[in-house]
Amino acid sequence: MTAQLCPNCDHAALTQASSGILLCGNCGARIVQGRLQCPACQSINKLGVEMCAACGEPLTIVGRVLSRQGLQTRSQRLEQMRFRTGAIKEEERLSSDARMSGFVEIDRRRIEAEHESLLAQQALDKRLFRNVAIGLGLFLLFVAIVSLVIIL
Ligand SMILES: [Zn+2]
Ligand SMILES: [Zn+2]
Repeated sequence: MTAQLCPNCDHAALTQASSGILLCGNCGARIVQGRLQCPACQSINKLGVEMCAACGEPLTIVGRVLSRQGLQTRSQRLEQMRFRTGAIKEEERLSSDARMSGFVEIDRRRIEAEHESLLAQQALDKRLFRNVAIGLGLFLLFVAIVSLVIIL
């Protein structure tokens, strides 16, 4: 029995895995109706790609080696870049929200501090007023005593 030609790597290494699914003994591709199917998410990928464009699952032996070594194919990089750009935008939105609530927090603290210093000022004023009143009272008492002494 001659194995079928793999559309992904052109090697005659396709074997029937289950109904309608062919596995390539050479490149490891999973071929469904002449197309490359991701074993993880079932997405149909273009022939010749090493990793699934949808989920990044290695589709071929080359893809498995690349993903093990942390390497990526160009299409995979583009896919991830697109994903990250979305993630960055989301992050920016969140951090600007955080900045906003940071400003609100600073404003709240500033108002609180102002309020506290106002209270402290009022307390100081009260004490000062009391001291002046006592001083004035003592002075009047002193004047009264002196004038009494003079009169007598
Ligand atoms: Zn193959
Ligand atoms: Zn996938």
